[in-house]
Amino acid sequence: MIARSTEVIVALDRELQPPLYAKRGLALVRGEGIWLWDADGRRYLDLMSNYGVNILGHAHPRVTAAIIEQASRLLSCHQSFASDVRAAFLERLLAVAPAGLTRAFLSNSGTEAVEAALKFAWAATGRRRIVAARRGYHGRTLGALAATAEKKYREPFAGLLAEAEHVPYGDIGTLTAALDEHTAAVILEPVQGESGIYPAPDEYLRAARELTRQAGALLIFDEVQTAFRTGAWFACQHAGVTPDLLCVAKGLANGVPIGATLMTEEIAAALPAGVHGSTFGGNPLACAAGLATLETLAVDSLIPHSADVGAHFLRRLRELEHPAVREVRGRGLMLGIELKSRSTPVLKAMQERGLLALPAGTVVVRLLPPLIITREQVDEAVAGIAAALDAA
Ligand SMILES: *Cc1c(COP(=O)(O)O)cnc(C)c1O
Repeated sequence: MIARSTEVIVALDRELQPPLYAKRGLALVRGEGIWLWDADGRRYLDLMSNYGVNILGHAHPRVTAAIIEQASRLLSCHQSFASDVRAAFLERLLAVAPAGLTRAFLSNSGTEAVEAALKFAWAATGRRRIVAARRGYHGRTLGALAATAEKKYREPFAGLLAEAEHVPYGDIGTLTAALDEHTAAVILEPVQGESGIYPAPDEYLRAARELTRQAGALLIFDEVQTAFRTGAWFACQHAGVTPDLLCVAKGLANGVPIGATLMTEEIAAALPAGVHGSTFGGNPLACAAGLATLETLAVDSLIPHSADVGAHFLRRLRELEHPAVREVRGRGLMLGIELKSRSTPVLKAMQERGLLALPAGTVVVRLLPPLIITREQVDEAVAGIAAALDAA
């Protein structure tokens, strides 16, 4: 391929797609470990993992080897056929899942993992109403969009969405009042990601478990962003709560598209045959990448590492006591810096200093670094963030 400049690539990217994304003016062409390079050869410290995806960093040798090996053996294998690598991946995934979640439906993205969870909840309970949280984000397909709260995503599709009530996140009283005999499921992120990094109090998640059980409704945890990242395999494990359905995607295969909806034996037994499916779901390539990712997380002890280095990151950011910052929140390596004004200028100043982070909501700088980040790299990042806050 001919090497093109950032300017040329950015222009093509803009011209050839509908204008749906807020573009960063950057063309990324290569990655290694925690580093990314743009088309002009500039290097960046990755504090965003491409929205939480590349949890092991870029071009991880173990994942790359697994992808190459699988690509040279078998790329596709429809779910009506069994697959050696899919079986091994499912064994590994369910071995680290909260006890009681014994089966998984495989798909290709976060929104598909949520879509499946909602369909399974509707099919298993025969009920229709969904209770979700304000500020919650669950994806953009029409089922998942019913659970997503943000008006700008929902309004163009009003009338097409399933029945959902959005209650204030963290408030047990309104959750209690929202549940009745028509409620199919409550869906929650254990830490809200897109809207600004808001960890749920453990007692809220425990109350959601208890209240759904009493109402005969199901509990769905959307861990598409939180899985593997908060210092536990799954964020719900901090509260000791097991949902009926658990959605995983982003980091699960370190960058190869994948989604998984984990469920209890009871839900699996209640699903009519043929009620859902996916052509690409559970394909050997994604399963091989997922298996290598889960093995690496375990072998390299990256879950305890993310708890430790994440606590260090949170402490260092709080110690800045920068006048532009209202609050620093997070758990493990899922962190948010809430500013007193819009985050865009700070993200731009960080980018100019070789640091890539993300927005969450309008005033939060979101940090989702690869779990391989070291304390030294955290210190380097904090110094760069302080400089960006000063400059913005
Ligand atoms: C990103 C995200 C989704 C949607 O995942 P896609 O792969 O973009 O469809 C759903 N839920 C949560 C919590 C997410 O962070």
